[in-house]
Amino acid sequence: MIQHYPFELLPLPYLYDSLEPHIDTETMFFHHSKHLRTYVDNLNRLLKPYQELHDWPLERLLLENQKLPEEIRQGVWNNAGGVYNHQLYFAGMSPKPTELHGKLKDALLLDFPSWEDFYETFFEMALKLFGSGYLWLAADERGKLVLLPLPNQDTPLPKGLSPILNLDVWEHAYYLKHKNLRANYIKAWFLAINWDEAERRYQAALFQNASQSIQAPDAGQES
Ligand code: MN
Repeated sequence: MIQHYPFELLPLPYLYDSLEPHIDTETMFFHHSKHLRTYVDNLNRLLKPYQELHDWPLERLLLENQKLPEEIRQGVWNNAGGVYNHQLYFAGMSPKPTELHGKLKDALLLDFPSWEDFYETFFEMALKLFGSGYLWLAADERGKLVLLPLPNQDTPLPKGLSPILNLDVWEHAYYLKHKNLRANYIKAWFLAINWDEAERRYQAALFQNASQSIQAPDAGQES
């Protein structure tokens, strides 16, 4: 489903208490029904007077952010990012235990020395990310995996990277349960990862990049 203005607060793919004991009910309730709703409302408020942008999906608002009118550019970047990043984050967790498998597992074990090395690197980077932001696992155009810390609601899309997983390390993502102990939240999040969804995103990224490289010569002839 392609979303565009007016954006809606999409329901979670599970209940607020479904991720217990890893991610607690109160955090999930506030994170989804309050924090995400604010990004949705702000984005709609910013876009309302700009009818020419009302059919732009989230990805385009982010990828072509520089084309937006200057007075709403940063606001749309922040709030479209807030909607996009949270939808990815919430769908990247599952009440059902899943395991790393498939093409993503093959790639991960190719791009990192071992699972343990990947886990430790991810953990340290998420712990050290200063202030608010996300740690991203993303795939470049060749399918190579990278770990990328980004501040605030920035997304890796304009860097030509496809998001595979994102860990929200804003304090609102863990403070109600873990207070200042971000490390405990990171450990808990790892137990809630939806690896089936991560594999789906990785395969979609490979397919998308493969079809883009096939289409490239045609696009050149048109111009
Ligand atoms: Mn958040």
